Amino acid sequence: MSGGTGLDEAATELLDRLTALGIRTVVIGGSDTHGVMRGKRLPFAQLRQILEHGMPLCDVFWVMHVDESDLVPRPEDHVGYFPTEKQGYPDIVALPDLGTVRVVPWHEDTAFLLGDWHLPHGHGPVPIAPRNVLRSVVERAQGMGLTPYSALELEFYLFDEPLGTAHAKRPAELVPLQERPSTYGVVLGAHQEHISSVIRQSMLDYGLPIEACNPETGPGQFEINLRYTGSLESADHAFLFKSAVKEVAGQLGYLATFMAKPNHEWAGNSCHIHLSLRDDAGRGLFYDAAAPDGISATMRHFVGGILATMPELTALMAPTPNSYRRYAPYSWAGTTATWGIDNRSAGLRAIVEGELGTRLEHRQPGGDVNPYIGTAVALAAGLYGIGESIEPADVVREDVYAMPAGTVPGLPRTLEHAVDLLDGSAMAREWLGADFVGHYVAMKRAEIEAQSRAVTDWEVARYLEAL
Ligand code: GLU
Ligand code: MG
Repeated sequence: MSGGTGLDEAATELLDRLTALGIRTVVIGGSDTHGVMRGKRLPFAQLRQILEHGMPLCDVFWVMHVDESDLVPRPEDHVGYFPTEKQGYPDIVALPDLGTVRVVPWHEDTAFLLGDWHLPHGHGPVPIAPRNVLRSVVERAQGMGLTPYSALELEFYLFDEPLGTAHAKRPAELVPLQERPSTYGVVLGAHQEHISSVIRQSMLDYGLPIEACNPETGPGQFEINLRYTGSLESADHAFLFKSAVKEVAGQLGYLATFMAKPNHEWAGNSCHIHLSLRDDAGRGLFYDAAAPDGISATMRHFVGGILATMPELTALMAPTPNSYRRYAPYSWAGTTATWGIDNRSAGLRAIVEGELGTRLEHRQPGGDVNPYIGTAVALAAGLYGIGESIEPADVVREDVYAMPAGTVPGLPRTLEHAVDLLDGSAMAREWLGADFVGHYVAMKRAEIEAQSRAVTDWEVARYLEAL
């Protein structure tokens, strides 16, 4: 079948497999900066050509505000890749990653492939593409003889609202799937269990390795844990999970949101990231039975690097002004640059479970984090700590939320402060790339500017009558 097509064996095999499955539509997509999937739907007959040449897509999506209300202009002093009107927003290409192919069970005869964003004419990876950034960090780890593993745990709310209408409602009009919370509750109404089980089963059928699911602390809030695997693949899983949950919930007439704090009286949505490292022989490197608390020097330095850079990298973990509403005492969000042993009040939670199970849980990122960026940041910071042998402060063995302010290393409380720190971070530029950081900072400054103009419900309720 492959004669003269220019396709290699793997691509030919893929076409044959999808033909045998009766696939008629192919979705190819990849992550933008916000963590939203951008791509196209193609008739199956087009796939051969896409496998040979990549799928072209206008590069404007890199500068779109998350709600698509505006485009972010290139700052005058910006050096590096930044799509502009002046260049007429040319095409870039998505090169399908064949290993990511899967059938989409909730659409008819449809397959999905993740694409890696590349510049046209073989000019290499788009340097601001989050999956490319994560891949480069993983490769750097491999260059140090380390293989990173991770797992992402996502929390989300379900609202009785079709896709595409909720943004026009006042927050109080949104009705959650359950009226009251039932944290770790196993008694679910038939309707709630139906929605939850269709989501769970669809994710499994989509090839996403769910380990567990439970109702969380907010009304209509759920958590689903994805099994750990190599760091690029685990970020793929979380990225696919977020858009897949939105689609499946949408088919059932529900809106799923990973927004960090949809309601100030409810629990936030987290995306805790678990991380560990193995050596080239597959041995776990975070455990040392002879060391205090069983924590190896490698893990200690990994923690040291994350704690030392947590403030300057916060803007990448907490990407919107709303992200910062989640960081309240006893929210169980990581609000400080601290670490503890199985201590959920600290920013980092070390879990000591033998050679392969010992891992670090980064509790700062919210559900709104881009899984590629969150994983790349946590990993880069940890590897930086290993490279520089950074010793962390002592493990905190008490309730961090109860410790007096000023005695605990804090984190930026606003996106504005966080972006200023990121802009000044040599470490971020060195590990994630200057193009990526420069573009990210510009995108976030535009977000801050958009927010600064908004008159919020809170302001109207507080001032309209009183003043
Ligand atoms: N919902 C909490 C947060 O926003 C996390 C709760 C938990 O520990 O699972 O971080
Ligand atoms: Mg949770």
